[in-house]
Amino acid sequence: MSIDLEIARAAKLRPIAAIAARAGIPDEAVEPYGKHKAKISLDFVEQARRERPRGKLVLVTGISPTPAGEGKTTTTVGLGDALNRIGRRAVICLREPSLGPCFGVKGGAAGGGHAQVVPMEDINLHFTGDFHAITAANNLLAAMLDNHIHWGNALGIDPRRVSWRRALDMNDRALRQVVQSLGGVGNGFPREDGFDIVVASEVMAAFCLADSLEDLQERLGRIIVAETRDRRPVTARDLKADGAMAVLLRDALAPNLVQTLEGTPALVHGGPFANIAHGCNSVMATRLGLHLSDVVVTEAGFGADLGAEKFLDIKCRLAGLAPDACVIVGTVRALKMHGGVAKADLGREDLHALHRGVANLARHVENIRKFGLPPVVAINRFTSDTEAELAAIREAMKEIGVEAVLCTHWSDGGAGTEALARAVARRLDSGEAHFAPLYPDNLPLADKIRAVAREIYRATDIALPDAVASRLRRFEELGFGHVPVCIAKTQYSFSADPTLLGAPTGHTLPVREVRLSAGAGFVVVICGEVMTMPGLPRVPAAEAIRLDANGRIEGLF
Ligand code: ADP
Ligand code: MG
Repeated sequence: MSIDLEIARAAKLRPIAAIAARAGIPDEAVEPYGKHKAKISLDFVEQARRERPRGKLVLVTGISPTPAGEGKTTTTVGLGDALNRIGRRAVICLREPSLGPCFGVKGGAAGGGHAQVVPMEDINLHFTGDFHAITAANNLLAAMLDNHIHWGNALGIDPRRVSWRRALDMNDRALRQVVQSLGGVGNGFPREDGFDIVVASEVMAAFCLADSLEDLQERLGRIIVAETRDRRPVTARDLKADGAMAVLLRDALAPNLVQTLEGTPALVHGGPFANIAHGCNSVMATRLGLHLSDVVVTEAGFGADLGAEKFLDIKCRLAGLAPDACVIVGTVRALKMHGGVAKADLGREDLHALHRGVANLARHVENIRKFGLPPVVAINRFTSDTEAELAAIREAMKEIGVEAVLCTHWSDGGAGTEALARAVARRLDSGEAHFAPLYPDNLPLADKIRAVAREIYRATDIALPDAVASRLRRFEELGFGHVPVCIAKTQYSFSADPTLLGAPTGHTLPVREVRLSAGAGFVVVICGEVMTMPGLPRVPAAEAIRLDANGRIEGLF
């Protein structure tokens, strides 16, 4: 049995009502889903926003990811637990895991070791059904669209220009491209279609950015699903699908409450893809957390160039949130990989490689400062790290004036992250954050892409084909010039080339395609290959998952 599962199983969970009470949530606002999960009523979310003071917001992000692993989720959990240990009331906010990676290569997303959110199995599987509701809303829209064409197509939809795809929360490469409506007149008009994984659906992004049911319904109505023959956009509202979609999502929009192994309240809600969407948990949950606590600790996916940039330029900008500090997670192992060491050789001390690789961390630190946020570096300790290697990172960070704190939450729980909690608390108390997004709303869309490419990726420029530039102008004409850009590129490098590790410069960002997510409220900018329906690996994690003789789940991690 995996060590994570062993720890999760041995945990004594507190009743969810006790966790809610600890967070100051009254009984009548708690809608239990079994003993250890609950949804918190939307009425209470509103009331808390009106009546209670707002706490501070801390983002946990990371260096550019490598196959060596970094530990953003575990650090988020560990930091939340440790803040509570040092007397700050903290709530953590995480994304809900998707079934795709669970059964694929990555495993679950509920943390690990002694830094986990529980009940781990429930959170990783069906949880409170939010993803199923989002799947249903996505597919209702698809069904209504094809039905509209079938019954005469009054809107004049060009079936060759339908952009809305069906969705499924599974890694299934067979469904990436399909031909549908085969079999005769009664089955509609055959056309090419495809499935995206649910986390890549624009419904998921709109859900996560909505700040009320009313706002959610508005956003759903704005989703563009197709074009007419004369290239006018057709929306979900044109199809009269927005109302029924919002009805399907009503209960799901209420944030989910669970707990960490140490009893810290955790809001786990929403899970947008981090490439074609913004990759952070719901605005509803973050808002609720802020009005329940002194500090909310939240995670944004991938490295800081993607995760933090989108958290700050998309989520915080659109929701009017202003973070107060940012933790950047790095590991000795991953930094050695950035310095050129192969995964198989990571067990050996290599100060030269570490010295080269630390440039990746240093650049993320510089980038976070560009948003006016004070960074703190968390070194997530692995057993193979040597004292000399740990000292080398601290020294390099000292040179650029940032505190680097050693963390052992994976083996020690919140006790192993107290030093980080104190360092973060000092940043919060100093009031040194002056958050501002990277670019203003009124910059032309192409210049927004250029700003991120130059300032964050350190590219010399962007390569923008004429056809793409004219589509951006078209989005501006349609009234979407003010929205932020959501850049989809590889997470492994600052550049669009996944093999350029460390801190590359002098590259050009190739923009291949742009898509308007009018419901979510951003323009997706595709740079390189982007997968919206992952496949399973040769040996999927699912092969090792089973029930034991007592009906308990084995192999989920
Ligand atoms: P991220 O959020 O950056 O993807 P996670 O925090 O989910 O990373 O960690 C990824 C995996 O690595 C988890 O299975 C976790 O248990 C493991 N892990 C994290 N930190 C450590 C550590 N210090 N030692 C051993 N395993 C770790
Ligand atoms: Mg994570």
